Amino acid sequence: MKRDDLRNIAIIAHVDHGKTTLVDGMLKQAGIFRSNQQVQERVMDSIDLERERGITIMAKNTAVEYNGIKINIVDTPGHADFGGEVERTLKMVDGVLLLVDASEGPLPQTRFVLKKALELGLPPILVINKIDRPDARIQEVLNEVYDLFIDLDATEEQLEFPIVYTNAKRGIAKLDINDDSENLKPLFDLILKTIPAPEGKRDGVLQLLVTNIDYNDYVGRLAIGRIFSGTIRIGDAVAMINGNGDTVKTKITSIYTFQGLERIEAKEASIGDIIALAGIEGINIGDTITDVERPMPLPRIKVDEPTISMV
Ligand code: GDP
Repeated sequence: MKRDDLRNIAIIAHVDHGKTTLVDGMLKQAGIFRSNQQVQERVMDSIDLERERGITIMAKNTAVEYNGIKINIVDTPGHADFGGEVERTLKMVDGVLLLVDASEGPLPQTRFVLKKALELGLPPILVINKIDRPDARIQEVLNEVYDLFIDLDATEEQLEFPIVYTNAKRGIAKLDINDDSENLKPLFDLILKTIPAPEGKRDGVLQLLVTNIDYNDYVGRLAIGRIFSGTIRIGDAVAMINGNGDTVKTKITSIYTFQGLERIEAKEASIGDIIALAGIEGINIGDTITDVERPMPLPRIKVDEPTISMV
């Protein structure tokens, strides 16, 4: 079946090109922010280390709802040092937004992540941001992006990427630079149109690939991943297949989905959903959560945790 109510995307951007601003705008316009909720911390760069170093280190998840469709947005580390994490993150999504500054053009940090995305066959949407900059050079930047795609051996289909022009600061997206759009609706519509809805068997054998580990003060260790097949429910007895190939029986005690900046408890989740599971002892990146009776591991993914070298 197809999850027409869901899209999973990643954003690829060089630092400072406007990823955080764009996601903020999407969250605001999707009506996620309640008026009494003070959002001082911005979505994608809440980690101190990130602020210090000015690069995004941890993949984070957020979700917006537009026209009744949930769009999960995952952040990709924009740096080749985190190759393993980039690959893992991209395995959760069905398409990418390539965000490029209208003046600076594509820079080396985006090249590596884009290469991985193209290798995985993910359809891209090009977002040319900061079109309001007085030194914007949109046509040249567009040509540089085409050159980059060709250089990275993009397929003809990938080369036909749709383009959207944004002023993330003002929350405006245009399909044509001369449009007089006043919001991000064209971007939302383009995502729904271009990025395929997840597909799989809702009643199939459960397969969830653990892509990341996170921590939460209340529930402790959280395993984050996408469900590739089947459905998971609170109370289910499941099998965890770990790095040694051992199958460990465990029970699902809590499921969280993403909504805005928050994690929301859910009773069940199904194919395509990106979820966090709490309370599974010993769970690690690369593990598969699967059916107890018919355990079917997903291919293990590379884990090369970053060693942060200070420059
Ligand atoms: P990130 O590192 O990719 O998350 O970039 P940020 O979202 O933090 O943006 C970097 C800087 O660019 C901030 O000062 C933003 O206010 C600014 N910025 C983001 N989008 C736009 C835009 O569309 N136009 C202009 N002029 N500035 C922008």
